[in-house]
Amino acid sequence: MKTVVRTDERILSSDIFDRDKRIQRPDHGMWAEPGKNIPIYHRCGVLVVGGGPSGTAAAAAAAKQGADVALLERYNHLGGLSTGGLVIWIDRMTDWEGQLVIRGFAEELFDRLPADAVAGPSRGDWGSQDVAKAAHWSQRTAAYHGVVTWSPTIDPERLKLLSQEIVLERKVKLIYHSWAAVPIVQDGAVKGVVFESKEGRLAIMADVVVDATGDGDLFARAGAAYVNDIEEADVHHCMNTSWLFGGVDMDRWIEFKAGQPEQFAAFMARGREQLGLFERPFVSWRNDIALFMGPRQSGYSALDVDDLTAVEVRSHRAMAAHLDYFRTHAPGFEGAYMMLSAPQIGVRHARRLSGVGSVLRSQWPEGRALADEVGVSPAVSPKFPNISIPYGALVPQQLDGLLACGRHISCDRNSHGFMREIPQCWITGQAAGVAAALASRAGIAPRAVPVDALQAALLNQGVYLRGAAAESAAAPSPQAAVA
Ligand SMILES: Cc1cc2nc3c(=O)[nH]c(=O)nc-3n(C[C@H](O)[C@H](O)[C@H](O)COP(=O)(O)OP(=O)(O)OC[C@H]3O[C@@H](n4cnc5c(N)ncnc54)[C@H](O)[C@@H]3O)c2cc1C
Repeated sequence: MKTVVRTDERILSSDIFDRDKRIQRPDHGMWAEPGKNIPIYHRCGVLVVGGGPSGTAAAAAAAKQGADVALLERYNHLGGLSTGGLVIWIDRMTDWEGQLVIRGFAEELFDRLPADAVAGPSRGDWGSQDVAKAAHWSQRTAAYHGVVTWSPTIDPERLKLLSQEIVLERKVKLIYHSWAAVPIVQDGAVKGVVFESKEGRLAIMADVVVDATGDGDLFARAGAAYVNDIEEADVHHCMNTSWLFGGVDMDRWIEFKAGQPEQFAAFMARGREQLGLFERPFVSWRNDIALFMGPRQSGYSALDVDDLTAVEVRSHRAMAAHLDYFRTHAPGFEGAYMMLSAPQIGVRHARRLSGVGSVLRSQWPEGRALADEVGVSPAVSPKFPNISIPYGALVPQQLDGLLACGRHISCDRNSHGFMREIPQCWITGQAAGVAAALASRAGIAPRAVPVDALQAALLNQGVYLRGAAAESAAAPSPQAAVA
């Protein structure tokens, strides 16, 4: 086990556990797949593949922009890791001054989620450096570096339902239980996707495909360049299956954790010693439900079925072992029970697109608004200004007909630490959706979408953009005709 040193350049530090030795697969020979004709199930302007935070935002934004949209998802719900992965702690949407910079689709969601489905500080406290408030919220995932932030926890079922209803209200053709298998590529451009379902293989043809699979399944299979290097000292590459314990009293747990530091340290040390893989709980949207988003396991590949299976097996065993230990030793957990392990495995990283632009570590100190800014991310710590997200980070270097959004956009491994977070995935999803709609309507490649038209449309959808980008987009432009 490696213990990672806490720094203010990382969102989260933690203990990281290495994978077991890689198992060599025997060579079982080859099977030649026969060619066959595949029925075309649907034709549309914009096809979004993957209904996680980024894909849901992309589909909703493209439809709002007037496109004819289809959204294909392998599971039975929307929200991806933010719902089915039980990643119900939505990271910071405010900057270190308390200004809301993750807006647009994210704001629509929070405006419509029922009040009892969201737990977090009230708007008046965002950015507060009040010592008592910061101390309270630092135990509840909503204050860092002494600053109260908007980083709430949510009820995953409510987010699933709301996400679904938003896309259906906008007449998106929603297709569940369907796994996109192969992109259809002609003359260097993606023209659609072949998917697998209980009906067998079917095809969807589209003007633009948005790859929101999180793992870059489509752009990789279509031949686009990508990278997969990792920052070992960051959790951004670890995997685990999250879980919830019900029947707990988190206020009592927090009293113990914050009020008895020596006993808490002893509790943690004993847990590590007894369980090896050990994790502490996070708060959820309710006092009687605890969230475990670890133990985080490193060295596994999210693209290897044996590794995915191994992470599931370890995580399910860890869940039961944690229940025994916490019931016996943790104040507030005496009556805990295993409520739910996540239906979706927690993959933080697989591939990252090589785009025509990127979010880079070298940008952090200056924080300049890039000319093709399509969103703004809060910085990892108060020592950096807000960070510009360029349109180029969604556009493959060569492949046409496809845009990427979410945790596999073009960025370096350091920037992936925060660009993979749910709020940033909503931002890049919304940008990809709007750009795809503009490209489809104008009959042009996504890379040819005029940046000023894109920025104007994003501003119109409530996205926060800055400086020259916002000003020039607000001014009338001849190119804005494609909007
Ligand atoms: C354990 C863990 C803890 C985390 N903690 C936080 C946190 O505290 N706060 C935070 O903000 N972020 C956190 N994150 C990061 C965040 O949850 C993800 O990076 C984010 O959800 C990514 O969104 P996405 O839309 O890019 O992909 P995903 O959420 O992975 O969604 C992708 C969707 O595409 C579908 N899909 C994939 N492939 C196909 C295919 N071939 N065909 C059809 N459908 C497909 C999947 O089923 C899924 O629904 C955490 C992540 C993990 C794993």
